[in-house]
Amino acid sequence: MDGPPAVQVRGLVKRYGRTTAVDGLDLELHAGSVLALLGPNGAGKTTTVEVCEGFLRADAGEVRVLGVDPAGAPDALRARIGVMPQGGGAYPGVHAAEMLRLVAACSAHPLEVGWLSSVLGLDSCARTPYKRLSGGQQQRLALACAIVGRPELVFLDEPTAGMDPQGRLLVWELIRALRRDGVSVLLTTHLMEEAEALADHVVIVDGGRVVAQGSPAALTATGGQQELRFRARPGMDVAELAAALPTGYGADEPVAGRYVVQGRIDPHVLSTITSWCAAQGALADDVQVARRSLEDVFLELTGRELRS
Ligand code: ATP
Repeated sequence: MDGPPAVQVRGLVKRYGRTTAVDGLDLELHAGSVLALLGPNGAGKTTTVEVCEGFLRADAGEVRVLGVDPAGAPDALRARIGVMPQGGGAYPGVHAAEMLRLVAACSAHPLEVGWLSSVLGLDSCARTPYKRLSGGQQQRLALACAIVGRPELVFLDEPTAGMDPQGRLLVWELIRALRRDGVSVLLTTHLMEEAEALADHVVIVDGGRVVAQGSPAALTATGGQQELRFRARPGMDVAELAAALPTGYGADEPVAGRYVVQGRIDPHVLSTITSWCAAQGALADDVQVARRSLEDVFLELTGRELRS
C-alpha cells in the first residue's frame, strides 16, 4: 500500500450557515485499501465525502483525490472515481437495467453489465422502474452504477443502509472483491460491524472532528487490552477486587450486579477473580472474556452511543 494516497484531507472545514458540519478533519486513504468513516448521524461523514467527490467546496483545508484537487470536479478525475451517494437517485421511470446500461455507456471500458447485474442480484428487477424498486434494490443499483466504469477509487455513502442481512453480505463481498482488485474504497457507515468487517483503517468522527483512528484491531485492542465481564451479587468492593489483581488491572461495576475487569485476561487472572468472588460468598456467573468493540471505543471517547 505504498505510493501516493488515494485521498488526502488536511484540516477540512465546511460550514452550512451557523452549523460547522466538518471542523478541521484529517484523513488519509492509502491506495488499494478500505477506509471507513464511522460516526453517528450528523457527524459530518456525508459532507466530508461530498467535498472529496467535488460536489461541495470546502471553507478551509486541503483535499487531494488521486493527487488532484476535486474542487471544480475536473472531467479527468470524474472518469477515475465511482460515487454511490446516500439514498441513490435516478429518474423515477427508468428501468434498473436501462439505468445501468446508461451509466456504463459513459465509460470507456465498462464492466460487463449482465455480469454485474447478476452479481448484485439485480436480474429479477431488470425491467422494474426505479421508483418501484425496494430500498435495498435501489442501493444495489446505485452501487452497480458506482463501479461499472472500473473506477480506481469509489466513495460509498452508507452502502448498506436499509438493506436486509442477505443484501448486506452481498455488498460486503463486493467491497472485498474491489479491494482484492486494488480499488481504493472510502465508505461511510454508522454500523460498527460494517467498519470492523471491511475496513483496513477506521476514522471515527463526531461533531465534524476525528475522535480516533486506526485499524479496527488497534482501536479495539490497544496494547492487547481485553475485558472480562461477569455477573455477581451487586455492591461488591471493586477497588478491593482491583487490588487483588496484578498492577494495571481495573475493575468496575457499571450496572448493579454487572462487573467488568480490564486488562489482559489469562487463566491466572481468571482464577484470581473467581476465587476473590468466592471469598466474598459470591458466584461469578455468566463470565465472558471480550475484546472491546468499536462501539465501546466510541462510548469511551464521547460518552454517547454510536447509534444515537
Ligand atoms: P448521517 O449519518 O445522518 O448521514 P453525516 O455524518 O453524514 O450524518 P452530514 O450529513 O455531513 O452528517 O451532516 C453534518 C451536519 O451538517 C449536520 O448537523 C447536518 O444537519 C448539517 N448539514 C448537512 N447538510 C446540510 C445542508 N445542506 N444545509 C444545512 N445543514 C446541513
